Amino acid sequence: MAPLSPSVRFAGGERHCANPSVSLLAKPSSSSLSPTKSLIFCIFVVISCVSSAASAAFGFLLFSPSSSRVLHHRFPSPSNSREPLARPLAKLPRPVVVVVSFDGFRFGYHLKAPSPNIRRLIANGTEAEDGLIPVFPSLTFPNHYSMATGLFPPYHGIINNIFADPYSGEWFTTKNHDPKWWLGEPLWLTVARQGYNAATYFWAGSEVKKDSWICPPKFCPKYNSSIPFEERVDAVLGYFDLPTDEIPVLIMLYFEDPDSQGHVYGPDHPEITKAVVRVDQIVGRLVRGLEERGIFDDVTIILLGDHGMAGTCDEKYVFLEELSPWIEIGPDWVMSADSLLTIRPPSGISWEEVVMKVNKGLSSGNVGNGDKLTVFLKEDLPEQFQYAGSDRIPPIVGVVEEGYTVKYKREKRYECGGSHGYDNFLLSMRSFFVAHGPRFPQGQKIPSFQNVEIYNLVTTILNLKGAPNNGSVSFPNSVLLQDA
Ligand SMILES: [Zn+2]
Repeated sequence: MAPLSPSVRFAGGERHCANPSVSLLAKPSSSSLSPTKSLIFCIFVVISCVSSAASAAFGFLLFSPSSSRVLHHRFPSPSNSREPLARPLAKLPRPVVVVVSFDGFRFGYHLKAPSPNIRRLIANGTEAEDGLIPVFPSLTFPNHYSMATGLFPPYHGIINNIFADPYSGEWFTTKNHDPKWWLGEPLWLTVARQGYNAATYFWAGSEVKKDSWICPPKFCPKYNSSIPFEERVDAVLGYFDLPTDEIPVLIMLYFEDPDSQGHVYGPDHPEITKAVVRVDQIVGRLVRGLEERGIFDDVTIILLGDHGMAGTCDEKYVFLEELSPWIEIGPDWVMSADSLLTIRPPSGISWEEVVMKVNKGLSSGNVGNGDKLTVFLKEDLPEQFQYAGSDRIPPIVGVVEEGYTVKYKREKRYECGGSHGYDNFLLSMRSFFVAHGPRFPQGQKIPSFQNVEIYNLVTTILNLKGAPNNGSVSFPNSVLLQDA
């Protein structure tokens, strides 16, 4: 019955580990591996876990209604470029990285719409040929903050878009900028700590004042979704007109599309095509602005997204109230539902018993779509989810099959659109990664990788000392040209 039995779905992946720096962050563990052995082990794991789906043809990815989870076994390829060294900067005195996030940009979207600007960056830069793998849960805030910090959600603290503190009962929402929620060291803080300017034009966590990052109004506007995309790009271009030593070395820029359209219409709708055309025009506006200033080849542009999108039509629901013959789940036990079920029963109720009863009901054949949901004690989740090491994560986590939605009660209204938050290794949950700049070989294709690698990639390009994180130390050098 269980669609997600770890031994089946994660065969070959169970020995995934994060990387040596995890030990700097995690609670003391019982691991007996020495640091050297850990490093070797993790290199092995990175090698064996890094995904690539050359054979998972694009059509399969976009048009299969239930693209299955694919594990890949391919070496991270070293640079296939003939250029051994990074191209020297022509005009700027130091490297500048612009990271641009398009929310919900599912991998492959750019292939289904005319996108000359994105394609130009791919042709002259580097692309993860099978997309960028999000962290679990494949939701916006956990993923944006993982890209900013290089940490899996249990370590950076943003374990969902909305969640409750288990001790105080206080709820975190996406509007909360209290630093107590936001752990780890995001890129903008790393930059500020080392004496440079950073700019964030809407990025989850960027308005949180932390140590030397004060979210200066000049470089850190307050989130306002009504600011037109063009205005955002023009503001970023304006930073390059500042005196040279004031130009931010890091600029992080966020757009809500095409996530908005994906939720309403699903990933295969013509509205997505339109949204991708618009996204491409935004990329074109940025590129043109840099060209006009004569710095396009000096500036590193990284295009990416936080997660993909799966269609949710055909009444694919699981209703928790149908479990009542086995267990009465109180509405206040349910911390989140939809694409990610999390349950925190009141004290005195055995978590193990809840898991056992829920799974018994789900596998009975008498709960609609019961076979599409499996419930785990969080510590029993497959290790690749990296979703246990925080008390903020409720003790019981339900993993839902792609495209299905968990609701507490049966509702009359059915939704038909798109969703995300599912198993982060599903192809449908992947986003894209395209990078263009002096340290990226032209025309380079790299295997898929997880977005916790972005932090080390950016700090390496900027020649900054990064904070400990879950990315692998070797990743940047496996994709970048050597510094000139
Ligand atoms: Zn979304």
